[in-house]
Amino acid sequence: MADEIIVRAENISKHFKVGRQTLRAVDGVSFQLKKGTTLGIVGESGSGKSTLARVVLDLIPATSGSVEFMGENFFQLSKEKRRLLRREMQIIFQNPFLSLFPHMSVSANIAEPFIVNKKSFGSLGRAELNERISGLMDLVGVPREHAGMYPHELSWGQQQRVGIARALALNPKLIVCDEPVSSLDVSIQAQILNLLLDLQQQKELSYIFIAHNLAVVEYISTHVAVMYLGKLVEYADTRELYRSPLHPYTRALMESVPQVSENGGEFHGMEGEIPSPLNPPKGCRFCTRCAQASDRCREEEPAYHEAAPGHYAACHLYD
Ligand code: SF4
Repeated sequence: MADEIIVRAENISKHFKVGRQTLRAVDGVSFQLKKGTTLGIVGESGSGKSTLARVVLDLIPATSGSVEFMGENFFQLSKEKRRLLRREMQIIFQNPFLSLFPHMSVSANIAEPFIVNKKSFGSLGRAELNERISGLMDLVGVPREHAGMYPHELSWGQQQRVGIARALALNPKLIVCDEPVSSLDVSIQAQILNLLLDLQQQKELSYIFIAHNLAVVEYISTHVAVMYLGKLVEYADTRELYRSPLHPYTRALMESVPQVSENGGEFHGMEGEIPSPLNPPKGCRFCTRCAQASDRCREEEPAYHEAAPGHYAACHLYD
């Protein structure tokens, strides 16, 4: 089971025209995701991780590259086949309140995917629909008596559970989790992460998990991809990456994890700002912030290659 590839992304690029300039939000990214596993994607804001996920989900068109999903070359399918396959992919958003319909009850929010796909679920009677909604609420730990409540009457953790129930309604194979716990209290974060892990085991789900919190990514992911300015700069299985990060950007990210000092509340952030993707540095894109940058780094873009078995990096230090 674990060797079945559910997503194979090849050389994905997504460019946007901004006036006369080109914003290279994602630039030649490839990865594979095995069934029942989680790929964590980390990087600062502006690294392209959410754009990459939206291309994979077919929410925005790729500029170039291909996505194979469940063995099908997604971008070459007919419109109808693509629509059907898209039901196998769902997304959980960062802000549970904004992702739910505020004027609709919990049960109506969870029922929405069945209504939108009524072509396939037209024969679903009211009793059966209610049964499915109750089953989904049980699955994610929302009490059935909350079915008639509105999102604003629930805690943020409960709202996120409703969002997860809705994402599960059509029995997807892939869920993109876009910063799903970053707006929640730490204790609730752990509950939601454990819920996602339980659901993964029960349903053999595959996740693409986007986050900037490295501890959260370490907890939930089987593999981790690190992105910087639209490029993949490092990839390895989670244990290997956290035990021996290779790329100076990954190491800087790890060192910039907020730490509370003895006298309380002191945080160490990474130095410098991520450059504009409209005007990325020549050579290695990290050269303006890298303590180990050489003249070569400022001229020549490093190739992304296997620096150790199963451990990939794009850095001249490992050529
Ligand atoms: Fe730093 Fe050079 Fe490696 Fe880029 S290629 S991360 S600038 S050492």
